[in-house]
Order: sequence, then structure tokens, then C-alpha cells
Amino acid sequence: MDYQQLANLLFPDLEHDWQYYMDKYPQRNLPKGAEVLRMAPSPTGFIHLGNLYGALADERVAHQSNGVFYLRIEDTDLKRKVEGAVETVISCFDYFQIYFDEGANHQPEGNYGPYYQRQRAEIYHAFAKKLVAEGKAYPCFCSEEDLNKLRQQQSDLNEATGYYGKWAKCRNLTLEEVKKHLENGDSYVIRMRSTGNAEVQHIFHDEIKGDITVHENDQDVVLLKADGIPTYHFAHAIDDTLMHTTIVMRGEEWLGTLPVHLELFKMLGFPQLKYAHTTVLMKIDETGTKRKLSKRKDPELSLDYYRQLGYHPYAVKLYLMTLLNWNFEQWYLKNPDTDLNEFKFSLDKMGQSGALFDLDKLNNISKTYLSKFTLEQMKDYLRTFVQTYHQDDYALYFGNEEYLDKILTLGMGLNLKKRRKDYDYASQILQSIDLYYHHKLIDEFKQDKQEVKNILTAFLASYDYNDDNNAWFEKLKKIASDNDYQTDMKAYKENPDGYKGSIADVSEIVRIAATGQKNTPDLWTIMQILGKQETITRIEKVLKELD
Ligand code: GLU
Repeated sequence: MDYQQLANLLFPDLEHDWQYYMDKYPQRNLPKGAEVLRMAPSPTGFIHLGNLYGALADERVAHQSNGVFYLRIEDTDLKRKVEGAVETVISCFDYFQIYFDEGANHQPEGNYGPYYQRQRAEIYHAFAKKLVAEGKAYPCFCSEEDLNKLRQQQSDLNEATGYYGKWAKCRNLTLEEVKKHLENGDSYVIRMRSTGNAEVQHIFHDEIKGDITVHENDQDVVLLKADGIPTYHFAHAIDDTLMHTTIVMRGEEWLGTLPVHLELFKMLGFPQLKYAHTTVLMKIDETGTKRKLSKRKDPELSLDYYRQLGYHPYAVKLYLMTLLNWNFEQWYLKNPDTDLNEFKFSLDKMGQSGALFDLDKLNNISKTYLSKFTLEQMKDYLRTFVQTYHQDDYALYFGNEEYLDKILTLGMGLNLKKRRKDYDYASQILQSIDLYYHHKLIDEFKQDKQEVKNILTAFLASYDYNDDNNAWFEKLKKIASDNDYQTDMKAYKENPDGYKGSIADVSEIVRIAATGQKNTPDLWTIMQILGKQETITRIEKVLKELD
């Protein structure tokens, strides 16, 4: 068979040959030891924690070594492509402050583009042509039905399934047969002609997993699909070589097809790259079972979950770092105020199997992180969140910054020595300060209307905004005893039937009226923040409501 003729027949009018592309994308000029990594998401619209976990590791290894981190969009699978998904990918990584040096989110993209695989068809074809011309790849005209039949035959005979060796019937088509198929307009794919033997195994060094055993590939896997678009395998080999990736970091679900990639690199005459296969994220579910995080069952797998709730991106990254490198946590405890980028990240300190994701731990890290914020940091953080997710409320919170400052400092204890560690994320904070912005009228009083009215009227009569916490409380106590409530909790507990209630019941009435909530932080402080007029207006409103 004249393979060159076959190649010309299949790819008659390519503008450039493979050598052109090898020359077009020369070695990168980088310092010694610099690593080049990439993030290569498929635009399916779903960006998950595993993506961020991988991206953070990529980014650390690249930037720590003064190398390059770039973004490539693997949009070859049109069936899975979702409108707007690329924008989602890009905005998500922006949010989590994962910076790329070049690629799909850059303008201009960089010297090794295009970084969208669908725009690289010509390049893939040039290399496919080279393989066909060398007899290392061939067209296969088998239909879906043929392949099903083949599989059935193989199963019946207890043989390994797939397109390989003696089963690969299109391997040996003559030029005439191929021509005939082409004249008929038959659809075809391009397959590699594997020379491997699945019985042979080698030791392979993975940058994370260490030495592992891999079997040789013997499958004639598809390189170009019927529409001329490459499979992941082919695109990976071409792109990572031409873009000069030095470490291919990707999920361990790709380990199974690593033998295909190793063979393909050899066939193409490309030097083998380093691989680092990251472990999957697991969780312990409600039943105590350890299992893979699942898109269907676990909303916390989606990165959108954290963005919508307003987790601080840095806190999420801190947490992921504890999963990524086992010595990070110790380092962070010793250097709580040092930027995480100062930590010496290493691939060999990454978990080799099943990183256990723990939302409670993320929340703890988040609480501690937020509790150290200055007023300005907290406001910047809330501002970004409100601008992104609650634009309609922007004026409410930021139209009166003096008020917001008071709420955050007095109400939340920012800038105080004793800091509160109550908040995991922005929406929780907004919820907790909502009482300062909206007065809800709730009817959760235990007492009858008249009783509530008596207490609130007495409260208003004696209320003085200038009273300090003590004086304010003394007045509340007086209202309590005037109305037959016990002010001494011990005495009350000894004889609860001897009184209408205790001082706690009285303050609860005032609390519900002023804040619309049964449980709040210190009520005197809240009233100080609300201000005299607002406090009075709220209580008067409740009184009116009770009429
Ligand atoms: N598009 C592939 C994925 O999303 C990329 C794998 C890789 O990084 O090579 O899984």
C-alpha cells in the first residue's frame, strides 16, 4: 500500500504540513526548571471543585517555577457544549483569582494559539496526514452497527472487546477499497494503527502517584472523528506538544487511557511529557459512606454553590490547599498571615488517593479568615458580593456607609479585640444584618396582646437613647417588677408559678418588637445602632399593629 498516496487522498488540500506547525511554535524561552501547565476544561457549563483543585495545583507549580500557566478550551465535543459555558469557566477562575498567563481568556491569546480546539482543525489534520503517510493511521469505515456486531462477536468468544489486531478489519483495506468508499461518500474516522501488546507492562513514573504499572495499548483508537474533529487523545498529544506543556496535570480518570497517549506520542515522534494525575474528591455522606462527590447528589461540588453563597475565594483556596498538600495546614498554622503563594507547593506532597472533602472544615477556615478582616476589607468583600448578586440592594447597604460601618463594627464586633467567628460567607453576614435594614413585624409573643402592649408602652415611656447599657437594663428590670415579672432568674426558677414570668420574657417582648427576631445579639447595642428614632418608630409600629 502506498501510504503517501492514501494520505493525499484523505487530506488533499491542507495549506500546511506538520513541519510548518512544528516550526511555528518553537520552544518557549523560559528559565531553567520552569514548568508549563495548563487548564483544559470542556465547556459543559459545569465547573466543579475538582476543576478548581486541579487549577490551583497547576497554577502553583507553574508560577512557583517561574513557568507558564495557560487556559485551553477543549470544545471538541459539540454534544456536550453549552452556550455561555466558556464565559462561565473564565469568570469562575477570575472569581477564585486563578490567573492565567496566556490562553483563551487573553486578548491577544498568546503565541501558541489558537487556544480553542475547534479552531485548530487544520493543525490536527496536518499531523493525521503525517501518520497516515507513515502507515501509522488509517481510515476506518465501520459503522456503529459494524462495531456493535464486532463487540458481540468478541464477547461470544470471550475475547477482549475493541478495535484492535485481527479484529480491526479496516486496517488492511487496499487503496482501491478506500477510494471506492470515498466515492460512495461513506463516512469514516481515522484510527491509529497500534503496535502495542496489552500483555506487556511497563513501570511509569507519575509525578503524583509515583511509579505505577501500565499495560501497553493495543487498541486502534480513533484520532479524528467522522466530522474531522479530533478525539481527546489526539488533541492532547498535538496541543500539549505544540504548546510546550511540560507537566500534564489532569484527573485520574485519564489514567486508563494513558497507554494510548504514551503510544501516540511515540508514533508522532514527540518527546514524552511528565504526567501528574490528581485524585478524585470524596466525601463522607449522611450514611457514613465514603464516596465520590457527585454532580447529582452534592450541590457543594459545583463552584457556583460557593460563589452564590459568597464564600471568600481566598478562604476556599486556603481550604483546597489543605487538601492539595498534606503539609500546608501545618505551615499555615505557623504563618497565618502569610500569603498562600509563599508556601512551597510540591507535587509529591499531594494525596495519592481520594482527597476527603469536608465542608465543615472549609467553614471553619472561612470563619477564621473572615474574623480577621478589618472594616475596610469586610466592606470590600461585601461590596463585591452585593454588586454581583444583589445589585438591587446596593444602595441599601452602600448608600449610607456610616450606618453600615456602625453595624459592622458595633454589631459584628469588627475592629474589636474579641472578634466574632460566626460567619462562613457573605450571604450569611447580610442575613444577620438584615434586621438593621428591614423591620419585620412578627407575632411571636407568648403573652396576650394587652400584656405586650403594657410592656412596650412602659418601655417607650422610659426609653432614653443616651442611657448606657446598665441604665437601660435597670429600666427594663423596673418595668419587669412593676408588672409582676421576677428580675432575679434564680428566684424565678425556684418558683416560676409565683410570677407572670421573668426579666427574660420582658426583654424578649422588646426584642421581638424592635428587631423582628426572637434571638439577636445584645439588644441595647442593636438599639444604639438603629438610633433613637428608628427604635421608637419600630416599637410604635408594633403597638399600632396590636390595636
Ligand atoms: N477536557 C479534559 C477534561 O475536562 C481535560 C483533561 C486534561 O486536562 O487533559 O477532563
